[in-house]
Amino acid sequence: MTNEKEYIPKSAMSIHAHPDDQEFSIGGTLAKWAKAGCEIISVTITSGDSGSNDSTKDGKYKPELAKLREVEQQNANDVLGVKHTVFMRYLDGELQPTLALRKELTKLIRQYKPEVVLAGNPEAWFYGNEYVNHPDHRAAAQAATEAVFPSAGTRLIFTDLLDAGYEPHNVKKLYVHGTDKPDTWIDITETIDTKIEALKKHASQIPVDEVEKWMKDWAKEDAKDKGFEYAESYRVMVLVNEEEK
Ligand SMILES: [Zn+2]
Repeated sequence: MTNEKEYIPKSAMSIHAHPDDQEFSIGGTLAKWAKAGCEIISVTITSGDSGSNDSTKDGKYKPELAKLREVEQQNANDVLGVKHTVFMRYLDGELQPTLALRKELTKLIRQYKPEVVLAGNPEAWFYGNEYVNHPDHRAAAQAATEAVFPSAGTRLIFTDLLDAGYEPHNVKKLYVHGTDKPDTWIDITETIDTKIEALKKHASQIPVDEVEKWMKDWAKEDAKDKGFEYAESYRVMVLVNEEEK
C-alpha cells in the first residue's frame, strides 16, 4: 500500500446514480482533495426523480422533484468544493448499464481527462442482511467501470467520439467504494464535518438531524485500527502504474 494519506490527484471524477450517493460514500475524500487543489468533476446520472413516496404525488411530480434534487446536489457540490457539476438526467429507478450510458460516460472522461475516477462497486448486491443494493447503484458502477476501462483509453472503441474530437484518455486509478475488499483508507478526520454539511443539503431525502452521528459511526468503523479517527475506504484499481514508466 502506498501512502494514500499523501496522494492527491490533480483531477478526479465522481460518478454516481443519484443525488446524495456521492455525499454518503466519498464526500470526505472529495472535500479533502478539493481543499488540496484537486479539480473535481461530479457526475450524477439520474436526478433522483423517484425519491418520494408522498401519497399525494404522482408521475407529474417527477420533473419538479428532479429539479429540486439537482439544486440540492449543486449545493452539496459547492460545499465539497466541486468544480464541475454534470447532470445526465436518466430516469431514477430505471437505470441499466447500457452501451449508450457507457458511451456518454466515456465522452465525459475523454472531455475532462480525470486522473482518478471514483465510483461504486458493481459487484455489490447486498450489504449486511438489511439492505439490498439499489440496482441503479450497480448499473452506474458497472457503466463507470467499463467506461474507465476499456472505453476511455481505447482509440477504436466508439469511433464517432474520436471523429468528434474526443481523443482517448487513460484514467490512472479507479477508486471503488462500498467494497468488502478495501485496500486503501483515506483519513477524512479533517473533512468529516464538511461531508456532513454537504449531505445535509439533501434535505428532501434524509433526516438532517440524524446524519451526523450516522456518518461519524460509519467513518469511525472504516478507520478502525488504521491510526486515524475517521476514514473512507476503497478498493483501488491501479490502471496506469507510474513506477513502471
Ligand atoms: Zn442512491
